[in-house]
This record gives sequence, C-alpha cells and structure tokens, in this order.
Amino acid sequence: MKVTLDYDACHGHQSCAIAAPEVFGADDIGNAVILVEGEIPAELEAKTRRAVGNCPEHALTIED
Ligand code: SF4
Repeated sequence: MKVTLDYDACHGHQSCAIAAPEVFGADDIGNAVILVEGEIPAELEAKTRRAVGNCPEHALTIED
C-alpha cells in the first residue's frame, strides 16, 4: 500500500499527522508531507487508512 498527496488540495489541517504521525508531517507552511517513502509498513496501514479517510479536502489517496 502506498499513499499519495495532492499538495494543491491540502489545506494544512494536520488531522492526518495527528492520526498517523509516523506517516504524515508538515512543511514550512503547515501543509502535509508524506514521511514514508514507498510502501507503508504493514503495522501503519490501519492508521494511514484512517488518516486518508478523515482528510477533509480529499487530498490523500491510497494506492493498493
Ligand atoms: S488532513 Fe488532508 S488537507 Fe489536512 S493537512 Fe492532511 S492532507 Fe492536508
């Protein structure tokens, strides 16, 4: 499983980083950055899916 970010859609709520701090962080202006390169580790998949599902801007996409 991989996750991608539509940076232009991101509004910097940081709810993704709260839900999955191992996977999502923030850049200088508070928009999301993906901290994991490539495949999301299996133990982080559940919280990553939760973060993606809760993104109010639908800026995150899961690629299985
Ligand atoms: S929850 Fe969505 S819109 Fe908010 S910072 Fe994360 S990716 Fe961006």
